[in-house]
Amino acid sequence: MTAELICFEGRCRSRYAITEPIYNCPRCGGLLEAAYSKPESSVAEWKALWRARRTSNAPLDQSGVWRYREFIPFLADYSRVVTLREGSTPILDGRLAAEYGGLDRLRFKHQGFNPTGSFKDNGMTCGVAQALRLGMTRVACVSTGNTSASMAAYASAAGLQPIIFIPYGNIAYGKLAQALEYGARTFQVEANFDQILALVRQLAERLGIYLLNSINPFRIEGQKTIMLEMMDQLDWRVPDWVVLPGGNLGNTSAFGKGLREMKELGLIDRLPRLAVIQAAGAAPFYDLMRAADRSQLHAVVHPETLATAIKIGDPVSWPKALHEVNTTCGVVEQVSEQEIADAKAVIGKAGIGCEPASAATLAGIRKLTAAGTIAKGSDVVAVLTGNVLKDPDYVHQYHTGVLKAPDNTVIKSNFGNAPVVVPNDAGVIEVMLRG
Ligand SMILES: *Cc1c(COP(=O)(O)O)cnc(C)c1O
Repeated sequence: MTAELICFEGRCRSRYAITEPIYNCPRCGGLLEAAYSKPESSVAEWKALWRARRTSNAPLDQSGVWRYREFIPFLADYSRVVTLREGSTPILDGRLAAEYGGLDRLRFKHQGFNPTGSFKDNGMTCGVAQALRLGMTRVACVSTGNTSASMAAYASAAGLQPIIFIPYGNIAYGKLAQALEYGARTFQVEANFDQILALVRQLAERLGIYLLNSINPFRIEGQKTIMLEMMDQLDWRVPDWVVLPGGNLGNTSAFGKGLREMKELGLIDRLPRLAVIQAAGAAPFYDLMRAADRSQLHAVVHPETLATAIKIGDPVSWPKALHEVNTTCGVVEQVSEQEIADAKAVIGKAGIGCEPASAATLAGIRKLTAAGTIAKGSDVVAVLTGNVLKDPDYVHQYHTGVLKAPDNTVIKSNFGNAPVVVPNDAGVIEVMLRG
């Protein structure tokens, strides 16, 4: 098995050693992806091996990423891999949510069950493994929150120094709290995500720090396993649709690559369609899909949404994401702040819960079924990307009717569930509970 890095640009396709510490193609500036020679094992052998590992107590086998290591064979050996038992996330039936979304049935693949509460862990265990292999001592990222929480945990667990850059005043508290607790050197910069990314790329180059943003091709490899694990859990029966939120579009790229590779290897016989949902205030990919000329994405200069995980105006991975959406006959939809907030409360009421960006999935499904794009009887899996506790302020404000959209309009608490203040009087409370 050989692994290498290949430029994603069709007209370049330059190849580099898998151990080059590069994030973009040195020749053309294009995105890079990991590519592998054809495996020798048969598909049936792999499926049996992966299933058998679920009963193993070996740390790598317990990881929902490294259990599938034959699918992401970029390392020469696994002795230094650090796993926090990422992946192995459940697929949950959301009956109430299905009805709200206009579907007979809806299942959620909940990445919020990860060790730091988001799908970033699936990618980060791979990114950190590559940093260790390259002999790096420091890793950095710019993040709307979850990447920093995840990188802080994995880098610290691996004995690397995590350095994180976040937009000042634009981060959910659960996420910042994690970065601090996991020991990251944390810089809050007075700039937006896209501006800070440019800054950090400069610093990484000058100081020899390994960058773990989602342009890092090894994070994409790890996130591919979300689709592989989903297919394993579905006994390899391919759903009609996989729905996910889109921000920097790393996950869209990873899901598409994972699905394509599974089909090429014969692990699945067809591709599900990808539906990528963006927040209307940060929807450059949605705009691109509606444009006559899709050769260049036009960045949103001031992205705005309370779903901070997808508040990105200039998504770096758009060329890959465009390819994957096209390959799967996918669609891109946008949803409003009110739609996200209500969908989130419905997912909560179904006993599942998620952070705002994740709820864009259900809001998008509701629109896409209403438009007839997704049929009522379709087999749909929505990927919930983050845990409900990531953004407790948002939850409390929604349920108490004081949540405000970025344009200062109040978001209606349509599914609100405010706490009730009562006197210390059993009689009074009894009357209320009987009512
Ligand atoms: C990072 C993140 C996203 C966006 O994923 P991209 O790969 O940037 O498109 C969505 N939801 C949550 C919770 C995230 O942490």
